[in-house]
Amino acid sequence: MCPMQYFIEYNLGQRSPSNKKADKGTIVHKVMEILAFIKLNQQNNNRYFEDDIIGPVDITNYNLDNITERVYKYYTSQFTHHKWTDRDFKDCDKWVYKTIDYADGMFDPRNREIVEPEQHFDITIDKPWAKYSYDTKEGHLEGQLSIKGTIDLITKVNDDTYEVIDWKTGRRLDWATGEEKTLKKLHNDPQLMLYYYAVSKLYPDIKHIMVSINFINDGGMFSVNFGEPNIFQVEMMLKKKFEDIKNSQNPKLNKSWKCTKLCHFGKNTYEGSEHLPIVEYREDQLTTMGENMTICEQIKHDISIKGMDNVIDQYQAPGYNIGHYKAPGSAE
Ligand code: SF4
Repeated sequence: MCPMQYFIEYNLGQRSPSNKKADKGTIVHKVMEILAFIKLNQQNNNRYFEDDIIGPVDITNYNLDNITERVYKYYTSQFTHHKWTDRDFKDCDKWVYKTIDYADGMFDPRNREIVEPEQHFDITIDKPWAKYSYDTKEGHLEGQLSIKGTIDLITKVNDDTYEVIDWKTGRRLDWATGEEKTLKKLHNDPQLMLYYYAVSKLYPDIKHIMVSINFINDGGMFSVNFGEPNIFQVEMMLKKKFEDIKNSQNPKLNKSWKCTKLCHFGKNTYEGSEHLPIVEYREDQLTTMGENMTICEQIKHDISIKGMDNVIDQYQAPGYNIGHYKAPGSAE
């Protein structure tokens, strides 16, 4: 949505605090993950498995409400920057049932043949354009671009067909444009195309891959079939993004009404942090003259004066590693 927001989050490692709605989505996702593991263990004739949050699960004797409650307790004890209320628990509980009851239980993981819950991927793009080479404080760094992510669930429809299932608890909106995602638009949705790309690389023998996304609270399930031509389309999309990022010397500020409402770096300054805030001395900026610059304006200001490398040295979060992948649901 905004090149500067990307730079601050992914190059400087200054992450904005999660929002409550997204954290409630994480809770629902975790319950779906546990249900998928229950089914997977049933398929594999295992009676027990160990979940990283709720501990041992007996697949012949579990209680869904109890699972939701324990998952909720875990995340609310981790995400302490929100004020959690009974209403939040009721929402999570309701969304869990909405998800598993949808279309007579068609997308309840327990009614599916599970291939892999929470499929992690880390795929190296073996193309000449995907090479990178940088000089860093730690020395010379070079390699190939790789894409990392986690897919909610992969299920088997038949021997030739897998279905990717993704759950969304938020609105069916493209947040960059504010427009509703229609089925037609989902055919060009970067996230869904990337999932298709990843699954086609992870499971090269599978002929057909469907990608289904369930907007639990905004329209239900949308299924998209991708095919061979989408592989090239994804690679061209990645190439463009990769080159844009590599060639960026001073990331743009994408200013809109969202800056002061939704963006942590537009709502806050460095006051009270380990970085000294700079008082605005120029005209026509987001901040009025005499006030502290917002975080993104200060970074933009410093890049134009000191250059990107110096700003990374000065502002990068201690211990941050640019190659580190934070899996969804991780409370780190
Ligand atoms: S406040 Fe606006 S311009 Fe600044 S980083 Fe956020 S989205 Fe970008």
